Amino acid sequence: MPCDFSGKTALVTGAASGIGAACVRQLTASGVAGIIAVDRDAGGLEALSADCPLAIHAGDVTDEALWQRIEADEGPIDLAVLNAGIATGRPIADSSFAEWREVLGVNLDGMFLSLRCALRLARDGAAVVLTASVSGFRAEPGVAAYGASKAGVIQLAKTAAKEAAGRGIRVNAIAPGGVDTPIWEQTEFFRDLVTQHGGNRADAIEALAQMGTPLQRFASAQEIAGQILFLLSDDAANITGTVLVSDGGLTA
Ligand code: NAD
Repeated sequence: MPCDFSGKTALVTGAASGIGAACVRQLTASGVAGIIAVDRDAGGLEALSADCPLAIHAGDVTDEALWQRIEADEGPIDLAVLNAGIATGRPIADSSFAEWREVLGVNLDGMFLSLRCALRLARDGAAVVLTASVSGFRAEPGVAAYGASKAGVIQLAKTAAKEAAGRGIRVNAIAPGGVDTPIWEQTEFFRDLVTQHGGNRADAIEALAQMGTPLQRFASAQEIAGQILFLLSDDAANITGTVLVSDGGLTA
């Protein structure tokens, strides 16, 4: 049965693209009254606002002043999808400290600031989902900073679940494997793979899905958004402090 979030207010970060944009569209279809939408892609947020009830906050999740403005300007929230992230990376020995700091900054510092704001604005009984990744517990060469940041996201979700349970607030993480979104273009590895497939992105995604994923498929952003909405819904009323793995069997 589709979720019913009639009259509720949500916060979504990374709202302009991929999984975040799919969450915005599904939350809108599920009846939310308003969505506080955060992304550094102002144009993407503007485009979404044509069909969705957005309060736009264009900015960088690592900017503490942005979160102070949101706390000051926005009212209470019932739902939060904390999802902004980047996926650049290279082997540890070849990485600069600046590259490490950039990934940890967006994915972990940005998540801390987002989560702190969400918990401050949350009504009692609210539900929060943080987008982690299977990279948070499955090591792969070249993704040290990304994996370390996502391991931190999982731990943040679990700690917040225990801290907020007394107010009836649930906090969970979702850990996708491969999802077909624009984030892949950030990695040199994927850009090379597209070149090897004659510039055909869909073929490169298919080839990637066949590298170790038992179901040999990537998820769509819509599928992951549906699973996030389940975690936000009353059907998940007994679920908090968990990580929902959605990876086609990659980590089985
Ligand atoms: P995406 O690139 O389509 O969307 C990410 C969004 O986050 C973009 O709109 C981008 O502008 C925004 N963003 C990035 N850095 C930001 C910052 N500093 N401040 C504000 N906004 C910022 O990618 P996606 O796949 O939808 O990614 C969403 C989340 O899912 C990320 O946390 C990512 O790590 C996670 N994830 C993705 C996959 C995958 O295969 N696509 C797998 C596991 C986890």
